[in-house]
Amino acid sequence: MKLTKVPNWIRKLKSGRIWDFSVLNNEVFLTFDDGPQPEVTDWVLDLLLKHEIKATFFCVGANVRKHPDIYARILNEGHAIGNHTFSHQNAWKTSKKDYLEDIDKASELIDSKLFRPPYGKISNALVKDIKEMGNEVIMWSILSYDFKTNLNTESQLKILKRKTSPGSILVFHDSMKSFHNLKKMLPSFIEYGKTQGWDFKRIELQ
Ligand SMILES: [Zn+2]
Repeated sequence: MKLTKVPNWIRKLKSGRIWDFSVLNNEVFLTFDDGPQPEVTDWVLDLLLKHEIKATFFCVGANVRKHPDIYARILNEGHAIGNHTFSHQNAWKTSKKDYLEDIDKASELIDSKLFRPPYGKISNALVKDIKEMGNEVIMWSILSYDFKTNLNTESQLKILKRKTSPGSILVFHDSMKSFHNLKKMLPSFIEYGKTQGWDFKRIELQ
């Protein structure tokens, strides 16, 4: 089953993570995982620039090393960045030591206290360790499913529009795998958001 909006029982079970924000205004938070990726990240940045909005990019350290120019562009254009490990580690298949080392390795390239676990997979114990390192673990409330092959983008776009509300954190991917779906959904989603008066902002910790 495809769960676009993360249900409350999952949030309760998985503590210590940020799933969305309580906002007094119309702020909505777009996030992009897995870049920087040539062509895709640039396409996203062009779109954000056109609409004069900001977002947050959870970068993979290895991709930052490969594409420092695109990474610099993300920063220069005023977006927030986050750590998504160096080699897109799966916490369920990696030892705690290796996982934390991989985050450390990424943090040498990515100067951020925002962390998002690849695949959303992470134990409560590991969340605690990562927070003790001074980071916040940022999940999402709305999953775009842009990575899904054969996604019915038209119906998924309707779901995204309906489920999103002020304070929502949405996750998209600036990866080749998702590019096809991203191109079909993101421009229309942003345009819809503007008609709703949503204020697309980057994630900033108090
Ligand atoms: Zn990822």
